[in-house]
Amino acid sequence: MLPAWGHQLATVLGSVCVGWGGGGGSALVTLTFHLFNHYGLIELFRLDMVKLRRFLVMIQEDYHSRNPYHNAVHAADVTQAMYCYLQEPKLSKSLTSCDILLGLLAAATHDLDHPGVNEPFLIKTNHYLAALYKNTSVLENHHWRSAVGLLRESGLFSHLPAEDGLNMERQLGSLILATDISRQNEYLSKFREHLDNEDLCLANACHRHFVLQMALKCADICNPCRPWELSKQWSEKVTEEFFHQGDIEKRYKLEVSPLCDSQANTIGNIQIGFMTYVVEPLFAEWARFSDTRLSRTMLGHLGLNKASWSGMLQELAGGADDGAQEGAEVPAEDGNSKALPQGSKES
Ligand SMILES: [Zn+2]
Repeated sequence: MLPAWGHQLATVLGSVCVGWGGGGGSALVTLTFHLFNHYGLIELFRLDMVKLRRFLVMIQEDYHSRNPYHNAVHAADVTQAMYCYLQEPKLSKSLTSCDILLGLLAAATHDLDHPGVNEPFLIKTNHYLAALYKNTSVLENHHWRSAVGLLRESGLFSHLPAEDGLNMERQLGSLILATDISRQNEYLSKFREHLDNEDLCLANACHRHFVLQMALKCADICNPCRPWELSKQWSEKVTEEFFHQGDIEKRYKLEVSPLCDSQANTIGNIQIGFMTYVVEPLFAEWARFSDTRLSRTMLGHLGLNKASWSGMLQELAGGADDGAQEGAEVPAEDGNSKALPQGSKES
């Protein structure tokens, strides 16, 4: 049994090598294989262990270890979080083995072959993926099609009836596409409506699939809900990736994408905006759906982490004020506005 929450993957996986700098060792393979075994999926779906292992190794290798954030460690982290949500009472008593298989597969593959830049970057640089997917959920479509490619190459489901295999691929796509953050409000509104109407019926396969989509979305952005030390490291990694994109955009005289300009942003203001406008609204609804100790713990960490970033920004702003008072050529207003977090008024 894996620990529920707040434990780093290094703890979860014991002696398995999990290095931030080295692409995470074999954490994704080891964790996903362990969970397949834990849920009895290998026997239930008559999976060939050699094919499964080869498939998982191919997945891990398809993640780019040079990406500071979107690498195999993130995929392992999301898979671990997904496991925690699958164990929540409402889900564990209603999900089928097929739901669990798809949920874990989607978590492990949801950012497959991520290039380390975002969709607007691919569109403005006329990347072939943007043309292939008509500028719509470009990355998510690519992650899904990459996962399908590896599934077929490994032959993991080749013993299943063709129709079942295609159905699995389609459902996997629907889960991965739900992680497109630009469609956040669409999913959140639907979730809120179901919760207001109290009409989610987990005996209904469509409703279970929708809950799996929401669980995967939570797992994907749950870093701000982890304990501070861990959460802070993820924040640093994602900011490093954003700023790296910004540096490329500057080098090639492209418009610098929002959040990617290291001169105009800090980790703190990016995180506070993200927590306020994206993470908090999602996890507040998740806690309404699954009112458990885990949900309360996550919201507790989120509040504490936000307060920590706010405190750091205030210190920074204080420093800027002091500097402004001392140096006549630096207007105090500029010093303040640069340090002001996006969501500070609501915190
Ligand atoms: Zn992700």
